[in-house]
Amino acid sequence: MTDTDWTLECDACGNTRHAAGLATVCDRCGQPWLVRYGDRHRPLTERADVRRRHGMWRHRSFLPLAADEEPITLGEGDTPLLRTPRIGARLGLSDLWVKDEGANPTGSFKSRGLSAAVTRAVAAGATSFVLPTAGNAGIAASAYAARAGLPVRVYAPRTTPRTIVSQMLAFGADLVLLDGHIGDCGRAARAWATESGATDLSTLREPYRIEGKKTLGLELAMQLGWTLPDAILYPTGGGTGLIGMWKAFAELIAAEWVSGPAPRMYTVQSSGCAPMVRAFALGAERAEAWPEPWTVASGLRVPAPLGDRLMLRALRESDGGAVAVDDRALTEAALRGTRDEGIDFAPEGGAALAALTPLLASGAIAPDDRVVVFNTGAGWLYRDPGDLLPA
Ligand SMILES: *Cc1c(COP(=O)(O)O)cnc(C)c1O
Repeated sequence: MTDTDWTLECDACGNTRHAAGLATVCDRCGQPWLVRYGDRHRPLTERADVRRRHGMWRHRSFLPLAADEEPITLGEGDTPLLRTPRIGARLGLSDLWVKDEGANPTGSFKSRGLSAAVTRAVAAGATSFVLPTAGNAGIAASAYAARAGLPVRVYAPRTTPRTIVSQMLAFGADLVLLDGHIGDCGRAARAWATESGATDLSTLREPYRIEGKKTLGLELAMQLGWTLPDAILYPTGGGTGLIGMWKAFAELIAAEWVSGPAPRMYTVQSSGCAPMVRAFALGAERAEAWPEPWTVASGLRVPAPLGDRLMLRALRESDGGAVAVDDRALTEAALRGTRDEGIDFAPEGGAALAALTPLLASGAIAPDDRVVVFNTGAGWLYRDPGDLLPA
């Protein structure tokens, strides 16, 4: 096993442990572990060296990879950061950008987290995987398990869009469709992990998906010439993207690769499943489970995220906020944005676009703010062939 020069820390109770082997959650309080890098790791690459590499692993000085290791990769990351002048003009925003994560190898930003998690799990000796998903994480787990030459069992809701289900099967997943939501799938996945010994890749139940998601923030800073935008809108389900980006900005500022302030972070959810929006409005430290969650933006259908505490902290520390939009507004925004700019918006990306309107109206976002909206996945994954054909 490779000697790791990082450790794991639970920032809820302060517990720490070494990073060797397959870590899950804090053994004292059950909250997620976060990776903390030592002084030996950080100077691995200089800022100029980032330019000589490509993909998300170009940022390896901030990632859990020892100097002599190679990652399990499909070329994830380096997704386009696009100016969107027509959407901006429609809304009255002069400096609006979209980060298009649909361009990743598996059609969503889930590629980033699973590349990191599968890399570490294989290094620690994993021989099979299991994962509960609302959709896109299942595609990524299937693809990266295949890349590692190992089997994966995926539990997904029966309501998962058919094209997403087809992609999981194409990559060879042992797929189980269940009645219920991702929480129900999570219980089945944990039971299977106990029974079979498969490594559980669930959101925040291992420490490395967050590290992969961190590259959303590292890449954004690089693409903006090592500066940070004023505000970020992020469609939020389990919260790894939000938590990961917030960790990335803190680490970049600490390393003096960028100067602050960090962007204001806005969580966007569907009004059919908005536990984080409700908890933020209540000033709560934890979110209560959302009853009977439903939204067409399947990636946002996460009624009880394990990362609730970390997300709420990021929203408050960043002076950001949380907004819910309804399914009709997010669907319309996705299709209009796709036609305005030629960017294939997923419903989740549509939610983030739709949230610009209330945030501008309330004054939370100013017309000349530099705003980045995340289109977290590709729209085609949510369409069946023929969906848009005339009847
Ligand atoms: C998973 C997913 C989300 C939610 O992401 P988190 O970072 O877990 O909150 C948003 N959009 C899409 C397309 C997803 O697949």
